[in-house]
Amino acid sequence: MGRKADIVDYRVEVEVEGPPSLNFEVETSHKKVVAEGAAESIERHVDNVLHVRVVPEINAYCSYCGYRWGEDEDSPHNGGCCDEDAKNIPEEDQ
Ligand SMILES: [Zn+2]
Repeated sequence: MGRKADIVDYRVEVEVEGPPSLNFEVETSHKKVVAEGAAESIERHVDNVLHVRVVPEINAYCSYCGYRWGEDEDSPHNGGCCDEDAKNIPEEDQ
């Protein structure tokens, strides 16, 4: 059988932005401060909110060549995207 997926819940995602003048190059640390402030305001002022989480958006990539990380988070290699990464593939998997 192929993949099957059921909708089990709905959440509201809120995107925050920095001050308009800085918008094109806002530091990630500043975005975190803005997101945490928005989360506090939402919990204080919006109805039907149980809890607001600030979730980081992560860009994972190979530390040697920069290729997008396609393996599990705890994998020691990225499927051999480059020569250096290929050295981290255990011998039994080659
Ligand atoms: Zn690589």
